[in-house]
Amino acid sequence: MPEIPEIETVKNHLIQKIQGKTVQSVLVNRHKAINVTKEALVQALAGQAVASVRRRAKQLIISFTNEKSLIIHFMLEGYTRFFYSEEPVDGQPSVLFELATNESLAFYKMNLGYIHLVDTTQFDEMPDLADLGPEPLDPDFSATAFLTLLGQRKGMIKPLLMDQQFIAGIGNVYSNEILFCCRLLPTRKVGTIADAERQRLYHCMQTLLKQAIAAGGVYDEPFCSDDHLTGGYENSLQVAYRTGQPCYTCGTAIITSRVGGRNAFYCPHCQH
Ligand SMILES: [Zn+2]
Repeated sequence: MPEIPEIETVKNHLIQKIQGKTVQSVLVNRHKAINVTKEALVQALAGQAVASVRRRAKQLIISFTNEKSLIIHFMLEGYTRFFYSEEPVDGQPSVLFELATNESLAFYKMNLGYIHLVDTTQFDEMPDLADLGPEPLDPDFSATAFLTLLGQRKGMIKPLLMDQQFIAGIGNVYSNEILFCCRLLPTRKVGTIADAERQRLYHCMQTLLKQAIAAGGVYDEPFCSDDHLTGGYENSLQVAYRTGQPCYTCGTAIITSRVGGRNAFYCPHCQH
């Protein structure tokens, strides 16, 4: 599932490719992915220009000049692809937006994901975006703010990092990577984490997410035919999906185990 770095990468591409452009028509092949009828979606968006593209947690928010927005969540398999005017659209997208420029924005494999039409309001008033925790890269999210939040929590650290009400936008890949960076086992109980380790956890969260954004995240679907950025962080992963392979730091084989219902990847030698 795409997390902050992947959604930021898509967002930055979308700002370049569709911001300011007008939707001409909408095709819907998977009606369950949208929250209104196809006709209502077409009526709301046809002829409207994209005013902004933003991210909150793992969701994308595309807002239009008529105060309507789309909240998009890719969930496990969904992805989006942009096609230039001379390029044929691949396969059968779940939802396809055709632009007045003859370019297209296609959403694929939205089996669990969704594209919801809502009124443009503050994020915390939007139905899918209420109750989310702070953004880890928000300038207001200081080390002090993080330490205060962490001090209110119990339980294992990995499921907590993935709890969207605790911090928004971190999922399985980056929770594993952040915990390797600060040398904490995924199963460490929050109450046993020392002050210096908490500071390191905050620092790792900041630097690792920023590096992953700069490198294009780990998404494996390119955004457009001349996309050379998406997925560039894949080779920087230290533990995620490296089961049995040697730790780059100490050579010990990376281990996988179920923690909080998800696969935790870690080095049993480096992490404590
Ligand atoms: Zn190691």
